Amino acid sequence: MSTIEQNLQDVRARIATVAHNCARSPQEVTLLAVSKTKPVSAIEEAIAAGQYAFGENYVQEGVDKIHYFANNAHSTDLEWHFIGPLQSNKSRLVAENFAWCHTVDRLKIAQRLSTQRPAAMAALNILIQVNISDEQSKSGIALTELPALAASISELPNLSLRGLMAIPAPESDYQRQLVVFEQMNQAFLTLKASYPQIDTLSMGMTDDMAAAISAGSTLVRIGTAIFGTRA
Ligand SMILES: *Cc1c(COP(=O)(O)O)cnc(C)c1O
Repeated sequence: MSTIEQNLQDVRARIATVAHNCARSPQEVTLLAVSKTKPVSAIEEAIAAGQYAFGENYVQEGVDKIHYFANNAHSTDLEWHFIGPLQSNKSRLVAENFAWCHTVDRLKIAQRLSTQRPAAMAALNILIQVNISDEQSKSGIALTELPALAASISELPNLSLRGLMAIPAPESDYQRQLVVFEQMNQAFLTLKASYPQIDTLSMGMTDDMAAAISAGSTLVRIGTAIFGTRA
């Protein structure tokens, strides 16, 4: 068994354990394998181990990988998520190549993605990024801005608003991780009450996935625990 296959089994087992411990079904939690900076050979190993959803942070690197895997035996099963900061001048590449974008934090970029999404493709799935605790980060909106931005994005054709994403400030204490993730889950549930298609709460990485799942995450973004540390 390859290291990546073993790591994937371990991560899936951790998700299942945490889910069971908080009376959730493991099926409610999607595992997104974050393959940024990793070679296509690593992704090939993950695909061989049954992993089909991948997250990429850098537009060109992600597009190169999407093109590389377009002829893979599992290409129709593969689902590519853009999870990095998005600049306006790169929005077209995201609109034309990815199935999901997790980092929408302003209307202008959403409008561009909607305009640039090819008609032949399914709607681009959108998550609004919330800056829940990381004052240093310029990415993400404040929760107070969420109702207005969600209302505007939900009107755009070619996009499907699916939920929220957050990258909290690094925090090693489990209880403090939990407090922040629970704030996100409250915002998610409130939004869901207004928009029936909302079903995705993207939060939790290698070091805080347990707290994220306990607080209600439906999608964890895991890089290091699957592919090893990055250079
Ligand atoms: C790199 C990255 C991840 C994965 O982080 P790990 O700690 O390696 O699991 C998840 N989400 C985003 C937005 C990232 O940039």
